[in-house]
Amino acid sequence: MTLNVLFAAISERYDQYFAPLTAAFEKAGLGINLSDTHQPDVVDYIVYAPNSPVQDFTPYTRCKAVLNLWAGVEAVVNNPTLKVPLTRMVDHGLTRGMVEWVTAQTLRHHLNLDLFIHGQSGEWLDHHTAPLAQDRTVCMLGLGELGRVCAETLRDMGFHMRGWARSEKTISGVKSYHGEDGLKDALSGSDIVILLLPDTPATENILNAQTLSYLNKGAYVINPGRGPLIDDQALIAALDSGQLAHATLDVFRTEPLPTTDPYWAHPKVTVVPHRASETRASTSAAVIAENIRRNEAGEPLLHLVDRTAGY
Ligand code: NAP
Repeated sequence: MTLNVLFAAISERYDQYFAPLTAAFEKAGLGINLSDTHQPDVVDYIVYAPNSPVQDFTPYTRCKAVLNLWAGVEAVVNNPTLKVPLTRMVDHGLTRGMVEWVTAQTLRHHLNLDLFIHGQSGEWLDHHTAPLAQDRTVCMLGLGELGRVCAETLRDMGFHMRGWARSEKTISGVKSYHGEDGLKDALSGSDIVILLLPDTPATENILNAQTLSYLNKGAYVINPGRGPLIDDQALIAALDSGQLAHATLDVFRTEPLPTTDPYWAHPKVTVVPHRASETRASTSAAVIAENIRRNEAGEPLLHLVDRTAGY
């Protein structure tokens, strides 16, 4: 039997994904007719990015599942026309990319690399001794697919690692906290906080004036999660007061970040244009193929989104 798979994302992505997906479907033993122009009523599965033109799933009457290409699902999870299972992306390339990005940003601040990158004035700045990782406490907000591996990597580098999630976790060498009650303990005394939480009603403004005050004075914020996790005004106030030394922000409430946004001009903010990590066609194609294979074989889908929790 041949299945019709619709690729619904921005058009350049289809060129990147066509060959890896075709190869992965073949390897999984699936007969697939992949197209970005299938008529809605013939589609069996949708490989989906929330910025695709497809926003109304109603005409896709025989679709069995929507397979999101992104890890974040906030732009599709509440779509009232979506009545079939939704999966999110968990991909080796996406994870490794995030580990590399988070490690780089953490080390940038930990080693005060800016001092030398920008310190090319001719002054011999040899009085600066960076603390060791063992002298820094890093808090990872979110211990899911990405946060956990990032936390383990930073732990292996010697940082005092803490983490926070919704449910209790046991991760060797990472002091883990959970639930609303655990947040204050997770943040208190931390020097660097990294956000790898999903954007849900429960996580909005999780970093706000109060929670930022729990961090050590002069702390760093690194946000590759989602923009709404941070109360922007509170963040700027904490930077201006010296409570925070710097914020490296990869994600924003509005993207692209408007040119008039105060973050662009703030001397203690680094704006990154949502480049922390992305789903790689070469590694994610196999994940998509495996999920279709599983569903066709009556096996449970991997990485199913909990529509009530929103992630
Ligand atoms: P995930 O596996 O779903 O993990 C999410 C983590 O957040 C889990 O540990 C979860 O707790 C925790 N969490 C959720 N709601 C919470 C709450 N109310 N209180 C405390 N903890 C809560 O997601 P992931 O794959 O690691 O991805 C995380 C996020 O990274 C994505 O949602 C996306 O927004 C972002 N992202 C950004 C980029 C980028 O390039 N900037 C790339 C990929 C992903 P439990 O473990 O208890 O469920």
